[in-house]
Amino acid sequence: MIFDKKNAGAGDGRVGVGGAVFGGQRLVLIAGPCTVESRDQMLEIACAVKEAGASMLRGGAFKPRSSPYAFQGLCEKGLEILAEARERTGLPVVTEVLEAAHLPAVAAIADMLQIGSRNMHNSVLLRAAGACGKPVLLKRGMSATIEEFLLAAEYILDAGCRQVVLCERGIRTFETATRFTLDLSAVPLLKERSWLPVIVDPSHGTGRASLVPAMSRAAVACGADGVMMEVHAHPGQALCDGDQSETPEMFGRVVGELRAVAAAVGRTV
Ligand code: PEP
Ligand code: MN
Repeated sequence: MIFDKKNAGAGDGRVGVGGAVFGGQRLVLIAGPCTVESRDQMLEIACAVKEAGASMLRGGAFKPRSSPYAFQGLCEKGLEILAEARERTGLPVVTEVLEAAHLPAVAAIADMLQIGSRNMHNSVLLRAAGACGKPVLLKRGMSATIEEFLLAAEYILDAGCRQVVLCERGIRTFETATRFTLDLSAVPLLKERSWLPVIVDPSHGTGRASLVPAMSRAAVACGADGVMMEVHAHPGQALCDGDQSETPEMFGRVVGELRAVAAAVGRTV
């Protein structure tokens, strides 16, 4: 397998996206709303998280929703807003590509393509994303084993892409107190098995804003190369995932805490 640690020469274990580098000494902090809701909303959050120390912006334009009646995203308009947010802040943008037909439009704007948990098993999309020349952030399927997660990454690698980053985002277990069960053991395990950088999404992983700071610190302590966090200026009014969204102030505090943990494990923020 190309992802195998013993094939470390296949890629250099570092994935550069604009000024951010996954897998280097410096951690990558991706922050932004679950969903791009409006120009004002996205620009406000983008400037706030930049100020607070984010190294990349996130925001969904095409949203995979459990219900067909929930807000599905601003689609192309959302992509334009993300491009403007990048221009304003200088931060590179990661956004989800839901289906192969959207790839040209999403790849034209995104600095990094996100493949979501619900699409991790979509081998057609994985191949297409791997062939389009952009770095790919692959999220773990919510019911995927580590083996299946790595094999999904292999589809992208096999399509010619060497800029793949893995994201642990929680798995389904019997536990209902949290939205998912954040499997932090995946981080050192994926690093034992492969040369790909690994980040953690504690927002979807817990579903609770109050748990995100502690799980972010734990992610950095266990060797993650970065953290992806949902941040909203008014979480109570968010169209999607408000319960798990930090305010920019909370995000700023977390960045400070991560600085201390990073120093303890030989990393920087
Ligand atoms: C997201 O990060 O926007 C998202 C939908 O997450 P996941 O695919 O992990 O559910
Ligand atoms: Mn979300």
